[in-house]
Amino acid sequence: MTIAPAKPVRTRFAPSPTGYLHLGGARTALYSWAFARHFGGTFVLRIEDTDLERSTPAAVQAIIDGMQWLGLNHDEGPFYQMQRMDRYREVVAQMLKEGTAYLCYSSPEEVEAMRERMRAAGEKPRYDGTWRPEPGKTLPAIPADRKPVVRFKNPLDGDVTWDDVVKGTITISNKELDDLVIARPDGTPTYNFCVAVDDWDMGITHVLRGDDHVNNTPRQINILRAIGAPLPLYGHLPMILGADGEKLSKRHGAVSVMDYPAQGYLPEAMLNYLARLGWSHGDDEVFSMEQFCEWFNLDHLTRSAAQFNNEKLAWLNNHYIKQADNQRLADLAMPHMIDDGANFEGAPALPVVLGLMKERVNTINELADAAMLFYREPKPDAALLAQHLTDAVKPALAQFAERCKTVEWTKEALSAMMKEVLAANGLKMPQMAMPLRLIVTGQLQTPAIDSVLQIFGREVILSRLAKFL
Ligand code: GLU
Repeated sequence: MTIAPAKPVRTRFAPSPTGYLHLGGARTALYSWAFARHFGGTFVLRIEDTDLERSTPAAVQAIIDGMQWLGLNHDEGPFYQMQRMDRYREVVAQMLKEGTAYLCYSSPEEVEAMRERMRAAGEKPRYDGTWRPEPGKTLPAIPADRKPVVRFKNPLDGDVTWDDVVKGTITISNKELDDLVIARPDGTPTYNFCVAVDDWDMGITHVLRGDDHVNNTPRQINILRAIGAPLPLYGHLPMILGADGEKLSKRHGAVSVMDYPAQGYLPEAMLNYLARLGWSHGDDEVFSMEQFCEWFNLDHLTRSAAQFNNEKLAWLNNHYIKQADNQRLADLAMPHMIDDGANFEGAPALPVVLGLMKERVNTINELADAAMLFYREPKPDAALLAQHLTDAVKPALAQFAERCKTVEWTKEALSAMMKEVLAANGLKMPQMAMPLRLIVTGQLQTPAIDSVLQIFGREVILSRLAKFL
């Protein structure tokens, strides 16, 4: 039983727009979104675009597209860090004034030399505090023509401890932490500082993110404390591994969320899959996002790394395809089928066809491929035809064709009529169904033959049969 937070919940997803929306990022976004929904809170989208070399507008768009496809709608933002520079400078100035940050005139070469010395002495390399003001300390003379960086005055002693909602209590000694550069010589702020200021300004109460950020958290906590900001709760989600136990990468296939619609996955399957990848609710495997938001209170997050399992995702996709409205499936399958040269003129209605075929497919692309049999001219293979359309079967098929002219065009009536023709000719079902399938669709594998006949309609069936009888 989780006790409701005292303050309204505010979560954020804060991607760096340097590529596509990765599956791990999508899971982080999903959890942050669902947790905000669980408590009727606010979900903020923040674009961390200060790495000018690696950030691109296309990557921002890719993130927004991915979130939109998944339906992870944000309530506030997107806020762009590059548009918040004045605010960061303001906080830097304030910190300098209050003495929680200081100007450091050590050159990059000097800093490197310091680190080298420490490494040689077997210590952890860090800034040695040359320019760190302390009571009674005289600072060196300011070198001419050198622009300073601004360093955060990290506490020298004590620990930083937080109760990570995923990993449990984490403690890092301040001795491990450097006096972090928070602004460069040109005044631009640095990463951890921007994140801390943003989380403060945006009133973030819960930070969920990948565990590659665990090392940043004590630095951000110290900065938040120094600027008098309340601390959010942190939860670091373990990474996602491929089936081989290695960190999920392109080698394992698609890692970009937007590859999945292209491969014919439904967003509800992906959401359901990602929800379970790092969290559980008893044995529940299939659930809606409404249900997930109701359950997701940060209990039962998995501590160990999750393994991505394509088969399970495919199984869920099959489930959601079966549940999906046929018209929606038609809208999704249609572009693939057009690409494959489908001819929809005078052909059966696509939603009806997809309704018949959706049981057995794992993706929309497979569904589109399967449905093509209704939308292209059948070209039965001559050898197969010779094998199945035997002299023993031909008269029965001719009778069948004759009765097709008048039979009531329902599945039931067609099926009953076929049985009568089979009985009258002493044949078994496959003996007639196989050549019929070949003639009507060009293939031996189809859904139930009575359904196929019914869907094609009398005219098409009669004209196709007429070509071979
Ligand atoms: N921008 C960071 C990333 O994309 C996330 C930062 C955070 O969530 O605090 O990995």
